[in-house]
Amino acid sequence: MDYPNAPWKLWQLLDPGISAEDWQQAIYHALHALDGLPALNAGRDLTSLVDTILTERQFGPEHWRLSAIRRFYYSAIRPLLPVSLRPMLRRMFLSRQRNNALLRWPIEDRYVRFQVEMLRNLIARRGVEELPYMALWPQGRRYAFVLTHDIESSVGQDFVCAVADLEERFGFRSAFNFVAEDYRVDRGLMHDLRERGFEIGVHGLKHDGKLFRSRKSFGEQATRINAYLREWGAAGFRSPFTHRHPDWMQALQAEYDSSFFDTDPFETIPGGTMSIWPFQLGRLTELPFTLSQDHTLVSTLAENTPRLWLDKIQFIERHSGMAMMITHPDYLRLPEFFSVYEKFLRVMSVRTGYWHALPRDVARWWRGRGALPGIGLDEEGALKIFPEGSVGTIRVGDSRSDNDPFSTIVVRPGRAVVDLRNSSDLPMFSHLLPAAMLLGGLGFLA
Ligand SMILES: [Zn+2]
Repeated sequence: MDYPNAPWKLWQLLDPGISAEDWQQAIYHALHALDGLPALNAGRDLTSLVDTILTERQFGPEHWRLSAIRRFYYSAIRPLLPVSLRPMLRRMFLSRQRNNALLRWPIEDRYVRFQVEMLRNLIARRGVEELPYMALWPQGRRYAFVLTHDIESSVGQDFVCAVADLEERFGFRSAFNFVAEDYRVDRGLMHDLRERGFEIGVHGLKHDGKLFRSRKSFGEQATRINAYLREWGAAGFRSPFTHRHPDWMQALQAEYDSSFFDTDPFETIPGGTMSIWPFQLGRLTELPFTLSQDHTLVSTLAENTPRLWLDKIQFIERHSGMAMMITHPDYLRLPEFFSVYEKFLRVMSVRTGYWHALPRDVARWWRGRGALPGIGLDEEGALKIFPEGSVGTIRVGDSRSDNDPFSTIVVRPGRAVVDLRNSSDLPMFSHLLPAAMLLGGLGFLA
C-alpha cells in the first residue's frame, strides 16, 4: 500500500525497527487531530485519507465548480473594473466566505498536528527520545522560502523590473508567471529575468476566469499552455484566480503546479490542502502557497505591516515547511503594497536557517528526495546522502505539559558524521543499501 504522499514517504525515517504495524497504529492514534474535518467522514481508510485531504476531495465533487454568480463576476464585471477597485469588490463579495470556511486561517494546523501526533506516537512506540530522518530540505536548512509573482496585465508587466531590482538588492530571486495570450508578453524582459537568475512560469492563457469552464475547453487550452511551457522553457504553472481541478490539471505538462494552497478563505474557490509541505498531485509536483496573497493582506485586511506573513513563517519554520508566497507586480506598484513587501524582504534578508530557492528547484529537490533511498557510501567509503541532503532528528515533546503543542516538535537538521572507513563491516556497505538498513544502529549528531 504505497503511494507518494504516504506519511512514511514524507518523513523518511531512518529507523529500521519501525514496522508497518507501528505506522498503522501511529496514524490511527493521530486521527483525533483531524476532528471536525469532512475527510474523516469519508471513512478511515488510511491509504486514501491523506490524498483526500491533499486533493481537497474532502470538500465534495462540486468543490471546484464556480457558482453562477462568480462566473458572471469574472466574465462580465471584473474586466470593466479598474485594478484599484477590485479588492474592494472582492471584499464585498467574499466577506461571508471567511465565516463559512471549513478550514482555519491564517494558520490551519490540523493536518500538521496530525503529522506531528503520528511522529509522537512512533517515538513513544519505539521507546526512544528522537528519530533520525532525511531532513526535508537540503543543506540542513530548517524550512524553504520561495517567492513567486503573477503578472496580471501589461501594467503589472511594466513594473516587473522594479520588483526584480528590489529582490536582487536583498539577495533574493523569484519566479515571474506570465499570462500567455492576454497582454503582449515582453520576450526581452523574460530573457533579462532568466539571465539574472529569475524563473519564468505560465499563468494561464488568458486572465479571464474561463480556463475551467468545461473539461473539454480545459483540455484544448492545456494543449496551448503546454506549448508555451516548452517555448518558454518553463517548469511551472499557476492558474489564474487559483481556479483548479486535481484531475483535469493532469493534462498539463508542467513539472510543478502552484495553484493550490494550504488554507485561504479569500480565494474564489476557498478551501485548501492543509499542507505546508509540497506533495505529489498525480504527475505534477504541487507547491501549495502558504502565505496570504498581497491583495488579501493589504486591501482586504488593510494591513500595513508584514506581521501576518512573518507569524505564519514562524509556524512554517517550526514544522520545517515551505513558505511559498504570491505577490503581483500589478499591486506592488502601489506604494502601500510595495512598502509592506519591502519591509518583509528586509526582515527575511537578515534571517538565516532557511533554504531560499526558485520553485522549480524546490520541485526537483522534492521529487528527488521522494525517490529515496539513495543513501550509501561514496568512493572513499564515507557516508553518502542524497546530494546536499542531510540527516536530522525529530523530537516531539509531551503535548500535555505544554500550552502550545506546536512548540514541542523539534526538527534539528544536521549531517550524519559516521565514518565507516575503518569499519570491519565495510564490505557489507559496498553497494547502495536501503537507508534504513544502512543507518540502523548508527549514531547521529545534530
Ligand atoms: Zn492572476
